Amino acid sequence: MNLAALRHIVENNPELIEENVPERGNSAATIGVAKLLVGNNGNVAALSENQRYHYETYIRPLVESVPCDGIFSADAEGEHDGCIGNGIIDDDDLEGCYILDEMLCQECQSLQARMDADD
Ligand SMILES: [Zn+2]
Repeated sequence: MNLAALRHIVENNPELIEENVPERGNSAATIGVAKLLVGNNGNVAALSENQRYHYETYIRPLVESVPCDGIFSADAEGEHDGCIGNGIIDDDDLEGCYILDEMLCQECQSLQARMDADD
């Protein structure tokens, strides 16, 4: 888990977590678990079974192996998501992506920077 990214989400963009929780779910409880993890340095082992369910289901996808959005639109079959890298945002880059609100891996980021420079 990327604790820095989780902290950023909890403090600045908790909607990202809420959006992951289905309507019948309890997004307040999920946010509570996220805050708990920020407070205990990401100690998942300290969570109760129920809390861990919230973490695994709604929080973990935001802070671990987060897919790159890609910079090209997906093809018709939806096979390629437009990412030129390996499709996953590197853990080191994750917090920066949330700060910039651009979910791109390093390869896509640098290509986009080159394309922007060409304009
Ligand atoms: Zn990418």
